[in-house]
Formats: sequence, structure tokens, C-alpha cells
Amino acid sequence: MRPVPVWVGTSWKMNKGPAAAIETARALAAFTPPAGVQPFVIPPFTSLRDVCAILHDTPVLTGAQNTHWEDAGAWTGEISPAMVAECGAELVEIGHSERRAHFGETDWTVNLKVHAVLRHGMRPLVCIGDSAQEHDFGVTREVLARQIMIALHGVSPRKMAQVLVAYEPVWAIGVNGRAAEAGFVAEIHAHLRAVLVRIAGEEAGGNVPLLYGGSVTRDNARAYTRLDNIDGVFVGRAAWNVTDFVQLIRSVAP
Ligand code: PEP
Repeated sequence: MRPVPVWVGTSWKMNKGPAAAIETARALAAFTPPAGVQPFVIPPFTSLRDVCAILHDTPVLTGAQNTHWEDAGAWTGEISPAMVAECGAELVEIGHSERRAHFGETDWTVNLKVHAVLRHGMRPLVCIGDSAQEHDFGVTREVLARQIMIALHGVSPRKMAQVLVAYEPVWAIGVNGRAAEAGFVAEIHAHLRAVLVRIAGEEAGGNVPLLYGGSVTRDNARAYTRLDNIDGVFVGRAAWNVTDFVQLIRSVAP
């Protein structure tokens, strides 16, 4: 059984300054998503507070793209989970492959951040993914099991109800990516579900939403979400334009 609803979210990455972010958020605030769909947006830190305020009391959730694990201290250039929570964020993306590749994010720092986000009453959106090489060597399942087991180490079954996981193959995301076949993603998600049930039990592990991300568009989104093991999609480029995002959200209505 699919944990309801269907999740559809986008991270704007390092796009949209405050003016563009506010304009996009206002357009989203005027839109009523179809029943059974849970949209979310993840703006850059510079607009987090504004976007949270605009989308507060709307069905669209707002998240942050990252957080530090400490609440305060001598960490120049970092943003703490307390600050993110104070801005009004409801979820926090952690462990995106770009952060792992370019900013030294590891499974261990992902785990620290998961606990920090949960401590502040927000939902961690944990991104995991296999590289092209790992995929070619046939170790996708092992790599993902390791990433998820370390990321969620020490999370109680009760707190697990707040966790979201996005499977984002590194070879599928971005301009050079190719979208993974929906059937392949469904198989991988079945494997991830089994791992989650093993570490958190039938109920807690069975209810963690599993999203797919990587070259999702409004034309292929439904091919993923119609499958049993895929509880939503996490989208980059194809959702930055608000009209495209709205169409994408409508396309996955159950
Ligand atoms: C991403 O980078 O997380 C992503 C899903 O990007 P895109 O949809 O642009 O492939």
C-alpha cells in the first residue's frame, strides 16, 4: 500500500534571487493543488524566510537545501537547524549528490544532520544515489543500503514517521542525466522498502515516503508515481518554472 499522499517537490538549487523566489512563491500560493498530492518547494537560504511566510497556511510545504548539525557556534558560512526552523521551514533536504560530490558531505554528516533536523521538529528529506560507475558494476542495491542505514542510524521508529527518502541516481540527474526507467526505480524502491522495514520495523519502515528524482518532467512524472513503490517525485530543472511545476503537480493527481 502506498503511504498517501503523492509527494511532488522541487529544489531551486542556486537559482532565483529573493525577487524571483518571492514571485514564484506568490504564484504557488494562489494555486490549489489537487487532492492527494503534497507539493513542496526548497528555495535557497536567501529566500527561505520569505517563501515560508508566503506559503504558510497553503498546502505547499517549504524546505531548506541543507543545514549544519550544530545549533550555533564557530562555523563560518554555515546555517544551523535552529535558524532554519526559526525561518519556518518544514523540511530539510540532506545529502544531495551535489553536496556529497562538491562539499564533502558524507554518510556520517548526513546522519548528524538527520538527527539535528528531527530534534528541531522538521522532516529530513534524505537524498541517496548510486554513481554511474556503481550502477555499471551492479552494486546499486548495496550502495543505497549502506547510505540509508548510516543516514538513519539511531532514528527511533517514532521519529521515522518524519523521514522522507529520495532515490536520485547520480547518472539520472542534471543536464547530462538520463531518466531511470520507471520499472527499475520501482524495483530499487522495493529493495529500499525492505531495508527500511529491516531497520525500523514493518509499520515505521513501511510508511517512509520513497521519492524518485532524476530528469523527471511533466511528461514522465506519472509513469513513476503510478507505480506502487514510488510515493512521489523530486524534481530539479523541469519544475523551476511555476507553470511547469503546476502542470507537473496536476499530472500526478491520483
Ligand atoms: C536533482 O538534482 O535533484 C534533480 C532531480 O535534478 P533534475 O530533475 O534537473 O535532473
